[in-house]
Amino acid sequence: MSGLHHRKQYVVTLNDPIDREVRVPPPEGKCAELRILETTDVHANLLAYDYHADREVQTYGLTRIATLIHRARRERDNVLLFDNGDYLQGTPLSDLTAQPANGWEAEHPVITAMNALRYDAAGLGNHEFNFGLPRLLEVISQADFPVTCANALTHLGVTPDQDVSLMPPYVLLKRMLVDQSGASHPLTIGVLSLVPPQTAVWDQFHLADRLWLRGIEETARRVIPQIRAAGADLVIALAHAGIDSSPATAMMENAALPLAQVPGLDAMLAGHSHQVFPNQQFENMPGVDLESGTLHGTPTVMAGFRGSHLGVIDLSLQFFDGRWRVTSSHSEARPVQPTQADACPACPACEDTSLSQKLAPAHRATMQLTQQPLGRSETPLHSYLALIGQSNSVQIVTRAQAAAVRDLLGDRLDPDLPVLSASASFKVGERGGPNYYSDVPAGPVFLRHAADLYPFPNTLCVLQADGAQLRDWLERAATVFNTIHCEPNDQPLRNADVPGHAFDVIDGLTYQIDLSQPARYDANGNANTTGGPGRIRALCHRGQPVRDADRFVIATNNYRVFGGGPYKAASPDQILFAGNVPIIDLIADHIRTSSPMSVATAPIWQFAPHPGARVVFDTGPGLRAYGGDIAARSLFDLGDTDAGFARFSMPL
Ligand code: MN
Ligand code: MG
Repeated sequence: MSGLHHRKQYVVTLNDPIDREVRVPPPEGKCAELRILETTDVHANLLAYDYHADREVQTYGLTRIATLIHRARRERDNVLLFDNGDYLQGTPLSDLTAQPANGWEAEHPVITAMNALRYDAAGLGNHEFNFGLPRLLEVISQADFPVTCANALTHLGVTPDQDVSLMPPYVLLKRMLVDQSGASHPLTIGVLSLVPPQTAVWDQFHLADRLWLRGIEETARRVIPQIRAAGADLVIALAHAGIDSSPATAMMENAALPLAQVPGLDAMLAGHSHQVFPNQQFENMPGVDLESGTLHGTPTVMAGFRGSHLGVIDLSLQFFDGRWRVTSSHSEARPVQPTQADACPACPACEDTSLSQKLAPAHRATMQLTQQPLGRSETPLHSYLALIGQSNSVQIVTRAQAAAVRDLLGDRLDPDLPVLSASASFKVGERGGPNYYSDVPAGPVFLRHAADLYPFPNTLCVLQADGAQLRDWLERAATVFNTIHCEPNDQPLRNADVPGHAFDVIDGLTYQIDLSQPARYDANGNANTTGGPGRIRALCHRGQPVRDADRFVIATNNYRVFGGGPYKAASPDQILFAGNVPIIDLIADHIRTSSPMSVATAPIWQFAPHPGARVVFDTGPGLRAYGGDIAARSLFDLGDTDAGFARFSMPL
């Protein structure tokens, strides 16, 4: 790998036919327009196809974004296209098909697509590291465009000038800029990319002692002057970071706001949090201007995720004091599926069929792989109700994890310790939309269903934990709910600040969650200063109350072990096993060996009853196909929300 380390700038000269000797600077005052396009968090959604559900989709996919890219390029002379990370992971096409272990030797289909779309450069996201560094470097070597990242390091120096970065810390793109009168002038665009500093922790199995990260803002403050000194007229940051208004910290994850204040930055492409900017949800946030689309005056765009939007920043440039400068800007995120308010008629962008054809071999291979039969289930498995009570779609995951523990640990496992298993339900709507739920009908089960139940390449980790730690784990899980007052009004159940996939269930215990009490923690795992007894009640193992000092073994995934969201990282001495065992493989094995399955819903947890109190919660309209589940929980259907979710009222 040593040949791939870079300490110096990396200059890309393309489309540069002009002889340098005859160049003269443009006259002062010349004006030009530069358009910057962004994709981010595409997560290998290349075709507009949902492999879990085995159906086409209308609202996302890179082949649909491609049509928006072509359109945006036709509209202007000077257009650059960037990807802001999280492109190599996220669908069965990337996570199952495009794996050498599964026999895939051809070019990575994500790179095939990006080469075809002629990206100018790409950054890295945290998920680029999911398959290890050697695979990442191999895949990136197939790219026709430069890939850059300023804060991911293969050597952490005592001081930053001794650092060695994995990728070139920035690239200089040399382009010809066509001005308003049609004359061309050389323009040098410096591009740096920044990835969340937590990345090495989240992918510790692959990255421990191999990769180090520095903070986003501190890196930008150091590198941007270097880019200027190297001759950049403009500097663009590919920031794999969302917009978080909490006070800036050195290792902040969603650091777009502090980054926007770094001097010398002309435009920023944000991402990672899968949100859309500009968007009303950021109204009233300090530093945000939704009219022009800026953060602290820096032109910014964030293009949703999985190919839901194309980010567009239009910069007006003027040449003065010896270089091109930004005089004004406008940002917008163009959706694949416009709403009625955006456009009339509100048709989705068509798929680019020539791109679809290039991807056909990978698509066919994915269809074949995901249709691989695993067994039968006599009961449907769905996640529509996973946030209001125990769900068998989570239970099949926890059972598969628990079954693997004894096999993997063998003699190293103390036979007296009970084995528990924790998992969340990963597909619970939210930013994924009203169809983003696990939904496996009764009948034959295929590999696509295992991927539907477990859509991430997470690996198994086994911990030892005491009763106090388990209680704390569940208190952190319970932050996904609001505090509910004992009055009959319909109160919203979910705390929208905490993603639903933070809601771990611990199989092997039984407990109640009392929503009349405030959560012990906030969305970032900070202790709630108001105190209170917490929300977890009647915590039992085999009918006996769990005492703080009781000891357990618990199966979970690598993400949970290494912290994030409301969770803190486990201490290293808690870890009994952390290896490269994908949980989806355990689920597939579990289905094969227990077929035909009949997964009854075990009574693991429920809300503490509060007679008279009612809550409302949103779920997928697909729940309506399961009338028995609706009746069993006394749910009252309130109809659809504007976003297409099904809203229900429920007694607590
Ligand atoms: Mn992402
Ligand atoms: Mg990310």
